[in-house]
Parts: sequence; structure tokens; C-alpha cells
Amino acid sequence: MSDQLERLDRLPLRTNLRGLSPYGAPQLDVPILLNVNENTHGVPADVQAAITAAVAEAATGLNRYPDREFTELREALAEYLGHGLVADNIWAANGSNEVLQQILQAFGGPGRTALGFPPTYSMYPLLASGTDTEYIAGVRADDYGLDAESAAAQVRELQPNVVFLCSPNNPTGTGLGLDVVEAVYEAGEASQAIVIVDEAYHEFAHDGTPSALTLLPGRERLIVSRTMSKAFALAGARIGYMAAAPEVADAIRLVRLPYHLSAITQATALAALQHREALMADVEDIKVQRDRIVSELTRLGFKPAASDSNYVFFGGVENPHTLWQGLLDRGVLIRDVGIPGHLRVTAGTEPETTAFLEALEALVDGHLSAPA
Ligand SMILES: *Cc1c(COP(=O)(O)O)cnc(C)c1O
Repeated sequence: MSDQLERLDRLPLRTNLRGLSPYGAPQLDVPILLNVNENTHGVPADVQAAITAAVAEAATGLNRYPDREFTELREALAEYLGHGLVADNIWAANGSNEVLQQILQAFGGPGRTALGFPPTYSMYPLLASGTDTEYIAGVRADDYGLDAESAAAQVRELQPNVVFLCSPNNPTGTGLGLDVVEAVYEAGEASQAIVIVDEAYHEFAHDGTPSALTLLPGRERLIVSRTMSKAFALAGARIGYMAAAPEVADAIRLVRLPYHLSAITQATALAALQHREALMADVEDIKVQRDRIVSELTRLGFKPAASDSNYVFFGGVENPHTLWQGLLDRGVLIRDVGIPGHLRVTAGTEPETTAFLEALEALVDGHLSAPA
């Protein structure tokens, strides 16, 4: 055990936090950062200008607490999502991670369980332990797929209070069919499970991919979670949100901190929503780079998963850690997600993607698994 962990362990820490490590994707200073699925295209100049002006305006009123109900932002988010949603359907917080935490604070907690389907977003079990919710790891098929029948059977058997469905799934990048969401929701009837569909990457999905937003009417236990960290290139601003029945938002009002969304955050989000054209154009460019990575990885002999996100999960890697290190030595940081034979890379700008693919091609000898 490290010194730090030993000292931590001497504190009167809650039992369920003992031995845990915090979320910790490496933040390294290297030229090409393709490891945490950020939007690599930066904030377009007109969006930057709009944010700067909005924040300057907000600064004049910073002596006062912000609008606790962030009504204007909820209206703008409802308008952005469409599907007949209105402000009462929307809730937002400092990143969708905070939204997910608030959902667990309201619907999880001691004596309750949350079901996820690994490999999936690494924050789900951490948010569960932080709220003293028992995390249950469900199972996927050998190819990491999850079909309606299997998912529903697991929900019927385990009777969770909360279910996390990540679509497109992180780290695999593959979307879930809406039939899976419908089946899980129905199977969750017995335990009155709250079903969260985490659509953090939905904007990057191939055209025509339906959103779980279409399933909201009549399903008061369904929550669709989104973020401005990825498509909106605002990871640094910390804005996530969800759409659900108005009573779900009311439940979250019971656990949120007062004025949790700062006036600066609200102004930033509103400005970005009002100037989203340039942002959405960058999303289209990222999709092109994503598809390019999939086809180039295939050409090199790796096995990329189908991706509806801004990253690509690929198998066929003989020794993921060595390849990860080799790329890092060439100034390209990608993600070793700890899954044997696999790595994950975020789609970058065209030059960044080229640099990744060239570095990879230079390293490919000795890094491909022998064909099965
Ligand atoms: C990046 C990501 C999020 C977004 O988190 P924020 O707190 O909004 O930055 C949520 N879910 C998944 C699966 C992600 O990969």
C-alpha cells in the first residue's frame, strides 16, 4: 500500500470508501491529447466571443446569488433537445457527473442498488460508492454488446433501484437499441427502477440514430442524461443536464445544493446554446475523423468497434500498455482502459488524427495480436 493510502486508511473514513482510488485519467502535458474524449476542436471564435460577453455581463451581478432555478437555461436546453420538452422536464448541474450523483442521492443511497453493465463509464461505481449505493456489475455478451432480452432478464433478477444504460457506451463507443431501453424500463417495473440513459455522446451518433428522448412520454422513471462537455466543447465549463418527467426534477431539487449552478456557468451555457452552429459543424468534422480512424485501424489489422461517439475502442492489440507507452513516447496520449487486448482513442482534429495514425503505423509491427 502506498504511503498516501496508508495515511488515508488511518482516517475514520466511511467503510465503503476504504481502499478506493479516485477517478484519475492521466492529465499529462503532451502535444496530442486523445485520452478523455474531449472535443479537440476548441471553442469556435464566435462562441468564445459570445461567452466572454455573457460572462462580462454576468460579472456585474456577482454580488447576488444566481437564479436558483436557472429558468432561462432550462428553457434553452428544452428548446435545443426538442421532442416537445419544456423547461419543467429539464435539470442541469456542474457536469452530467453531478446530475448522475444527484440522481443517486435522490433514488439510491444506503440499502439501495444501482446496476451498470461493464465495461462502461468508470464513474458509475465511484458515484455509487460516494452515495453509499451498492453497485452491481451486470454482464454483457463476449463482444461487449447488450441485447434487450439479456438486459431485461438481469434487471428482473437483480431488482435494482437504479439502472445505468450508457449509449453510446463508454469505452466501447457503440450505441444501444431503443428496444434495450424499453425492455429494461419494463423489467424495472417490479423494483420501480429509475432508468438512466447516459447520452453524453449522442450528437456524434450516425445520422438517423434515435435518442431515448423519444421514449420519455409516459415513462416517469426514465431519465436521459446529456452534457455540454463533448459536442459543445465545454468540458472546462462543467455543464451537464438531463430530461425527464417534471417530478424527477422535483425529486432532485430535494438534494441539490442551493444555487449550485453559478451565474458564470449559466451565462456560459446560454451563450454556447445560442451560438451552436459553429459547434455543430465541428461535430460533423469530428465524425469524419472518427470514421477515418475506424477504417484506418481496420486497414492496419486492428479490430475497431462500431462507434457512434467521438472515440474509437479497438481490439487486436498484443500488449496494450506497451503500445500506449510507445504512442506516448511519440507525443500522443490515448487511453488504456484496462481491458485486455484493447485501447481507446478520441477522434482529434485532422492533423491530430493523422499524427496518431502515423505514430500507430510506425509501431504496428509486434503490436498486433495474432489472428484468432
Ligand atoms: C464524458 C462523459 C460524461 C460527461 O461528464 P461531464 O461531467 O458532463 O463532463 C458523462 N457520461 C459519460 C459516459 C462520459 O463519457
